[in-house]
Amino acid sequence: MIDFHSHIDLYPQPADVLAEASRQGCYILAVTTTPLAWDGTRSLVAPFSRVRVALGLHPELVGERHKEVDVLVNRIPEARYVGEIGLDGSRRHRASFAMQETVLSKVLAACADNGGRILSIHSRAAEDGVLDALQAHPDAGVPVLHWFSGSRRALDRAIELGCWFSAGPAMLKTKKGQTLVQAMPRERVLTETDGPFARSADQPLMPWNVTDAEARLATLWETNVVATRAQLRANLTKLTGLIPAPSDDQ
Ligand code: MN
Repeated sequence: MIDFHSHIDLYPQPADVLAEASRQGCYILAVTTTPLAWDGTRSLVAPFSRVRVALGLHPELVGERHKEVDVLVNRIPEARYVGEIGLDGSRRHRASFAMQETVLSKVLAACADNGGRILSIHSRAAEDGVLDALQAHPDAGVPVLHWFSGSRRALDRAIELGCWFSAGPAMLKTKKGQTLVQAMPRERVLTETDGPFARSADQPLMPWNVTDAEARLATLWETNVVATRAQLRANLTKLTGLIPAPSDDQ
């Protein structure tokens, strides 16, 4: 199983979560919300061979932490994965939206300068802004839109631009989420949880809860869980093959 968007460093007991995820054979992309968490999170996951860490600056934090974009850009040569990055156009973060656009553009330009990266991207209430930025930086790498919740028209545009998608239990339990995922090319879909932020039954989602998403995908794809897992695993292999690792440890 694959959790391609997890905030591992933000669980109260991340080492315990990693140990259990490892026991269950879960592949994890541990996204970060600030580039200052990059080194610590890499140390945390070092014992676990199926876990990778993405270098990020969350759009919801850009209002307060936009200066950290320089830290992020300086570390991009070392990072195969960049995220969580993106734009948030919801009311709460509208005041920082112009700043978010500047930060995203800088990050994507730096990714392009380094030959492209695998990107985990937030696009809530800002799908067209994210797609405009990706269109302006076509060499930034492979964008994986996490928990995409835009219109069908924006989804078609994202597909046209070559985006991939990660979908989790919280997205797949809604009718809208199911309809969107059904329209995504299944060879560009991965599972995620967005834990511990995303919750189910009032508990934070854990990486191994991607089994819920696998079951939903199997239904949407009119197949069984074994075939669904094989598809997701093949997708991950294909994705990582598209962007070479910049260093030995990634
Ligand atoms: Mn997230």
